[in-house]
Amino acid sequence: MIYRVEKVERLPAALADNVVYVSEEFELAALKCACGCGHRVNLMLGDGHRVNDVEGLADVSPSIGVWDAACRSHFWIDKGRVVWADRWSDAEIHSAMEQQLNRHLQGAKMSQPWYKRVARWTMNIFRLRK
Ligand SMILES: [Zn+2]
Repeated sequence: MIYRVEKVERLPAALADNVVYVSEEFELAALKCACGCGHRVNLMLGDGHRVNDVEGLADVSPSIGVWDAACRSHFWIDKGRVVWADRWSDAEIHSAMEQQLNRHLQGAKMSQPWYKRVARWTMNIFRLRK
């Protein structure tokens, strides 16, 4: 499975397999989970993930953790190639989510009510340190 990059103005509702869609305007990216479960993974760019275009292939860092789907996939995309990372325990996921939430609450610009930011955050995938 090789992921390509496709730059779009708006992320499409239906995603093709093997494509990382990037909306630079909205600082969002979306892809289907690499395990094949069909789960849509949304990435926040800017303070979250970086998606580079390497001759059309997607290069994503840091790793992508699909904690909100049953598969709990955790992988890297390295020049289009999926590199599987360790699965995390519930406790590790919980603590990563809490740290991320705290960072967001502390560093967030107060332009939105906190509950909107939390809702937006929970819909997105978390930045993880390996
Ligand atoms: Zn999956």
